[in-house]
Amino acid sequence: MVTENNKGNSVRVYSRSEHNISRSQISENALKVLYRLKKSGYEAYLVGGCVRDLLLGFEPKDFDVATDASPEEVRNVFRNCRLIGRRFRLAHVHFGREIIEVATFRSSESGNDDDQRVHKDGRLLRDNVFGNIEEDVIRRDFTVNALYYNIRDFSVVDFIGGMEDHSAGVLKLIGDPVTRYKEDPVRMLRAVRFSVKLGFSLDPSCEKPLFELAPLLAAIPAARLYDEALKLFLSGKGLQTFEMLRHYGLFSILFPQSDQCLEIEDHDFPRIFIARALENSDQRISEGKSVTPYFLLSAFLWESVQSLAKDKERQGEEEGVAYQYAASEVLSIQVKSISLPKRITQSMREVWMLQLRFNRRVGVKPYRLLSHPRFRAAYDFLLLRSETGGAEEELAAWWTKFQDASEAEQKKMTRPPRKKKKKVMARKVDSTNNSANG
Ligand code: ATP
Ligand code: MG
Repeated sequence: MVTENNKGNSVRVYSRSEHNISRSQISENALKVLYRLKKSGYEAYLVGGCVRDLLLGFEPKDFDVATDASPEEVRNVFRNCRLIGRRFRLAHVHFGREIIEVATFRSSESGNDDDQRVHKDGRLLRDNVFGNIEEDVIRRDFTVNALYYNIRDFSVVDFIGGMEDHSAGVLKLIGDPVTRYKEDPVRMLRAVRFSVKLGFSLDPSCEKPLFELAPLLAAIPAARLYDEALKLFLSGKGLQTFEMLRHYGLFSILFPQSDQCLEIEDHDFPRIFIARALENSDQRISEGKSVTPYFLLSAFLWESVQSLAKDKERQGEEEGVAYQYAASEVLSIQVKSISLPKRITQSMREVWMLQLRFNRRVGVKPYRLLSHPRFRAAYDFLLLRSETGGAEEELAAWWTKFQDASEAEQKKMTRPPRKKKKKVMARKVDSTNNSANG
């Protein structure tokens, strides 16, 4: 059904029979939030990724709610509610581990300095001016992310042609793409992420500016980019995302050192290594296995660490010290683009440093390494290195064998090499001579 609102814009309302979203696919907790807000006299809709994904038959990652209640009013309705964010103030309603994110309709009008702040480069530093649903629509990023599911009559409300773009499999920014990317350069990463995740194409108007605007991403606070980076690479389609980010020049802003290494390919080595790490993690995700962010991040930066450590060694530094130094240096540069939690950098260091210990295969050292909490990750890392020419295959095979070997076999494997017989003989001859002389 098409209706006109008071501004003369057309609104399409898709009734329950015109779309495939059923209430049973919606999280119980999201429904509770919608009904409670409605009962308290507010408007409340499901919006964003959950509507977009449900229309495709995907299970949504999370459920987002949009309402005309202010964050404070939302907090008054729910006891289990916390307000978060300064740049974009939101209410989080907690149900055990599930969080329903409730956002107040944003307005496109500019507000006072306290509520809305725009940087001279066009970046929106704060976006807390509230409005109504029609204003909220145009504050959203892509048309397919601006579909509202109405709990009152189970309809999908579309102010902007999102449903048609959704059916056509096209990602289109709302408004002027250049302005929208400048307002929030993270939208460039979102464009890539959604394109890969949904299998949608980028509308040419949104694709073209990427090449030129990619450097704007550098202005985004490093803390915000950590979560974005995880979503990009741990989505199950990390390899495809990586290729696309490289294509638009976005990867070099996120991982400048890795990108530099990719530019100086050596027998295709670093490129293959990062790609294989991503492929490996995509495979694990598809098998329902766990993946850790530190593993991939270690892979992204390994080549940089190695090359810096080798420089240090050439200057006369001992191997272990050289790698410690290189790890610190590489990490300190990386956290300028993407801030990494301490527990992550600690684990990355361990994965790197354990690579050196794989070379020590005599005596008690291999046993100690086997019981190290990061052994498994470090061993998987070694396998990747050997598959892509960065470590001896024989070394990886030795460690594969050692883990499953019987006690007796392990003992044999770690025994110091025998002294050469020839020398013993020579000494015997010597001593005989001596005694003869004496
Ligand atoms: P997913 O949850 O699958 O990552 P999503 O589209 O739900 O995808 P969220 O980050 O949960 O992404 O955001 C919810 C909605 O909020 C989006 O669909 C979009 O409408 C709006 N939104 C989020 N980030 C931005 C942004 N940077 N600029 C404009 N609108 C945004
Ligand atoms: Mg979401």
